[in-house]
Amino acid sequence: MRWLVVATMVLASVTGCSSAAETTVEQPDRGTIGIAMPTTTSIRWVGDGESIVRQFQLLGYQTDLEYAEDDIDRQIEQITGMIKDGVRALVVGAIDGTALKDVLADAAAAKIPVISYDRLIRDTPDITYYATFDNYKVGVLQATTIIKTLKLNSTGGTDTIELFAGSADDNNATFFFNGAMSLLRPYLKSGRLRVVSGETAFPTVATQRWDNAVAKKRMKRLLAGPLRGERLDAVLCPNDGIARAVLEALQEDGRKLPVITGQDAELESAKLIAAGKQTQTVYKDTRELAKVAVQMTNSLLLGGVPEVNDEKQYDNGVKVVPTFLLQPVNVDRGNYRRILVDGGFYTADQLAG
Ligand code: BGC
Repeated sequence: MRWLVVATMVLASVTGCSSAAETTVEQPDRGTIGIAMPTTTSIRWVGDGESIVRQFQLLGYQTDLEYAEDDIDRQIEQITGMIKDGVRALVVGAIDGTALKDVLADAAAAKIPVISYDRLIRDTPDITYYATFDNYKVGVLQATTIIKTLKLNSTGGTDTIELFAGSADDNNATFFFNGAMSLLRPYLKSGRLRVVSGETAFPTVATQRWDNAVAKKRMKRLLAGPLRGERLDAVLCPNDGIARAVLEALQEDGRKLPVITGQDAELESAKLIAAGKQTQTVYKDTRELAKVAVQMTNSLLLGGVPEVNDEKQYDNGVKVVPTFLLQPVNVDRGNYRRILVDGGFYTADQLAG
């Protein structure tokens, strides 16, 4: 068994000890874990990658972290390379949840366990566990903000809304949308809420690859077309990147800002919430998600059974994947300091800067 000096450095940085020599604890080399992440353009994945690497290193594993920049073939090549290099396990945040079947069959043939990270990998028997947040609840939290802010329960009349969803090939996007629509649909049915463009079907309002430019273009098209001369009271946005893209389009059109939802508590959006421009975001503590995924992997590699808390919701088309769900948290102007700053996700300086 090889012993790693790198663990000394990691421990020193985690404990804050001034001298690495004081914290020399040797860790066994447990081999390398392949970590395949979708993109660095949505900043949350950068944080996920860093946290996963840190957690694995603390347990004595080496890591190979690779980002595919939303290029499906590149992600397949990266995973193929990891399998060839003999990684002991794979943690995969998929770009297209339906495109990894063949490469994961190769992983299974090499007896490499695969953890599906944040996004469910579909149509394959070759994933062992899934670590994510309660994705349906993310949409519920977004819709709850719209309902409360527009006071849909206590006043009459008709308020107007436009709907945006995430990428259709990301299993999460459907969960977010269905969660939100479960609360919004009754108001749409009763006429209390109206989608001015009439675009309500998931495939129509989905944003391919979660691309902010695609969302901005669609918002601009709506503003120049069906929304011309119409009031707009709310926009359901599935994440912070799309929220900011929609906000830009509205500002360029000289619009009074409607209720705008988001997700991920990205720094730029947290600042917009503080400034009263974006109404809400959903905070998902990705440091915790990283811990869950790393514990699952470690437990599997040690011959144990990882802890799960959901064995019903996540059917990937081949099997129901045992899942650990973390809870997302609603963040708005009223609680962002408490949740994001007191919770240690950002410093007050970062939010002020
Ligand atoms: C994640 C979101 C993220 C989105 C775009 C989803 O699968 O759950 O947190 O905003 O992808 O990267």
